[in-house]
Amino acid sequence: MKVFVLNCGSSSVKYKLYDMAPGRVPAVVASGKVERVGTDTAIITHRQGTAQRQVTRPVFHHYEAIQLCLAMLTGDGGAIEATAVDAVGHRVVHGGELFREAVVVTPAVKEALRQLNDLAPLHNPHNLAGIEAAEALLPHAPQVAVFDTAMHARMPAHAYLYGIPYELYERHGIRRYGFHGISHKYVAHRVAERLGRPVESLRIISCHLGNGASVAAIRGGVSVDTSMGFTPLEGLLMGTRSGDIDPGALIYLMAHGDLSLADLNALLNRQSGLKGISGLSGDMRDIEAAMDAGDDRARLAFDMYEYRVRKYIGAYAAAMNGVDAIAFTAGIGEHSPRLRQKICAGLTYLGVRLDEAQNAAAAGEAEISAPGSSVRVFVIPTDEELVIAQDTVALLAARR
Ligand code: ADP
Repeated sequence: MKVFVLNCGSSSVKYKLYDMAPGRVPAVVASGKVERVGTDTAIITHRQGTAQRQVTRPVFHHYEAIQLCLAMLTGDGGAIEATAVDAVGHRVVHGGELFREAVVVTPAVKEALRQLNDLAPLHNPHNLAGIEAAEALLPHAPQVAVFDTAMHARMPAHAYLYGIPYELYERHGIRRYGFHGISHKYVAHRVAERLGRPVESLRIISCHLGNGASVAAIRGGVSVDTSMGFTPLEGLLMGTRSGDIDPGALIYLMAHGDLSLADLNALLNRQSGLKGISGLSGDMRDIEAAMDAGDDRARLAFDMYEYRVRKYIGAYAAAMNGVDAIAFTAGIGEHSPRLRQKICAGLTYLGVRLDEAQNAAAAGEAEISAPGSSVRVFVIPTDEELVIAQDTVALLAARR
């Protein structure tokens, strides 16, 4: 079965074409991305086997971007005929309370997704644009929506509710939804495979540390708590997002600081986090380089980042009454041995023992805990597209 996976962001479209067959490891036939969608200098990169093609041209809409991806896939020397695509799997960031599992897209599903646009204005409209473009361009193929929130949809109410009047949850859906669920799901299943134990028997803390960052407490394969909340702004310190902050400070700033709603949004989403603290950059590579050059604010930003991750790990060990494995993923989680070392150095009370050499050398998937560590620690490069492809195949198979 050929599954085309699409991940449409605000200014990018990423895709992968999988060949999936029961009992066989899924094969990536081709992959690529369109960056700078909405400009006249969009960059399309397409990989097929060992070959790579790159084109720069105007791409103003997601429809055009997906049309170009498909032209690369199905054109001269392409991997496949368009009619041979059996299904399309879409990453959709927000499923609200309506979608707890992947769904086959129907007109009713699209209408429901439109209702959710307000909950994720920076993401869902682009996801929906991708669905509509793929429907138009591949009308024979079923479209499946796979949600970033679904992994967290079975969190208990005591974890997902905020301590505000209950009516606000009932009326406006104000609650923790959590994000990065597709990535946390991949990580949890890989950890279970590496441990040779069913995911249902494990307590895993998954740390997705990219530009956006979140920690999830996963017990029995189900996320029971996660650091992102109603929006992807809560929780960890991130590249440019504040993470946790006393809402009272925001009330104060609005009362005293002449901050408009738009200013507040920009402050918390784009001017905070590593960037806001260091005054330099929201990119962890720049922070580590500046810290090495003696920059105190960069060191402070790094220390705050590390401390926040470690605090959440402690909280989630408490939430699950223990932890069997901790996993690090995404750009920073996979590539910053220094951060992992510092976090683990503060978790010895949990029985974490890091293998310093393995941690320093880890490239790709690796166990970095020392023999005898009572909590196993892993680096797991995430693969969200694979989960989307697998969920798509599983859902369609279940309907047959
Ligand atoms: P996104 O959330 O946009 O998918 P990524 O998962 O690609 O983000 O992560 C981006 C982050 O990873 C950036 O802060 C970047 O600095 C960081 N990163 C990438 N490589 C390294 C590295 N070698 N050392 C430290 N941080 C790194």
